[in-house]
Amino acid sequence: MNPISTSVRPRVSEKAGRFTESVIREMTRLAMQHGAINLAQGFPDFPAPAEIKEAARAAIAGDVNQYAITWGARDLREAIARQFTARHGVQVDPERDITVCCGSTEAMISSMLAVVDPGDEVVIFEPFYENYGPDAILSGARPRFVRLRPEPRGGAGGWSFDPAELAAAFGPRTRAIIVNTPNNPTGKVFTREELGIIRDLCVQWNALAITDEIYEHILYDGAQHLALAALEGMRERTITINGLSKTYSVTGWRVGWAIAPPDIAGAVRKVHDFLTVGAAAPLQAAGAAALRLLETYYQRLAGGYRERRDFALEFLERAGFRCFRPAGAYYIMTDISNFRFADDLECARFLVEKAGVAVVPGSSFYQDPADPDGRRQVRFAFCKTRETLEAAATRLARLPQLL
Ligand code: PLP
Repeated sequence: MNPISTSVRPRVSEKAGRFTESVIREMTRLAMQHGAINLAQGFPDFPAPAEIKEAARAAIAGDVNQYAITWGARDLREAIARQFTARHGVQVDPERDITVCCGSTEAMISSMLAVVDPGDEVVIFEPFYENYGPDAILSGARPRFVRLRPEPRGGAGGWSFDPAELAAAFGPRTRAIIVNTPNNPTGKVFTREELGIIRDLCVQWNALAITDEIYEHILYDGAQHLALAALEGMRERTITINGLSKTYSVTGWRVGWAIAPPDIAGAVRKVHDFLTVGAAAPLQAAGAAALRLLETYYQRLAGGYRERRDFALEFLERAGFRCFRPAGAYYIMTDISNFRFADDLECARFLVEKAGVAVVPGSSFYQDPADPDGRRQVRFAFCKTRETLEAAATRLARLPQLL
């Protein structure tokens, strides 16, 4: 008898069986299927800056078409180091500290694989950007979730955590904490005081911090982005992740990076090398040009998003969604309790099929799909043109007739 044919072992790994397809990217497919306006996935539907597109064209024409150095083209690493030092006052050695990856998505999983051993605990604030769940599974981490709760006095963005709950999540097995500020999906921007609490716990338990700062330039109402690596005692224990996607409206380019102390960067570089070899060389060259854009570029970026945010808040509230006002990033988390949907999934399905607007069900940002908070939330992305947002507003204004 052929032992393989009688085997009951599944043909896919136990790891791959423990997470589902991305709900966010699934919503994009549903939006296309139903001709819905896609306010689900966080990508802009407006053009990237002309100068950086020209830099990409020039790089291809100039034959920057072979593998870059595996940990990133020198020009780009130097530009990243310069910008980080100028903004945050932290010295970065482009030769030793930086790994350029295929998006911050790869920077995150490469970092996790580089520092986490199976069974290590990793603290994650919840709700969380959905990739962190599978990242934890793939790296063998045991996630310890700490709740962010919408509270009127919860610092910029109005969500906060209970310091005692955070302290209880740390212990001798804690390897790292993941911090995403400005935060997706809540729009929270962590305050200096909150980052100080995180720093003290990292120092106490000799834990690392992995910070996802890809929305650092998208801030509202005077909120300030603080890099955790800039806090005293954190430079040596922080991996800072960032990328081109959101700041330069080029989510399809897949260029991101991790900044870490040299011993950790060495491990990230090895993992990255064998996972992907490197990010697209001509787009790294264009990335170096992007990082040289003037300060006015960043001011215009944030100003444009503030107008979109204010407009989206207005039409969502008018349509009956209770909005959590974001202080950063380009999403609005909403409470759908005003409607009579059974849960977030029914709401999202109705919105994409009947109202013609795709959103992300709140439960995809929580560990437990039945989490009562997730079940009454849906997330809207507003990184869209005024025309797209106006069309969404018109469709959502018809909700009362459809329900
Ligand atoms: N991190 C966060 C918090 C995000 O919201 C996203 C995209 O939505 C990413 C990472 C992905 O970034 P990248 O395109 O650089 O892989």
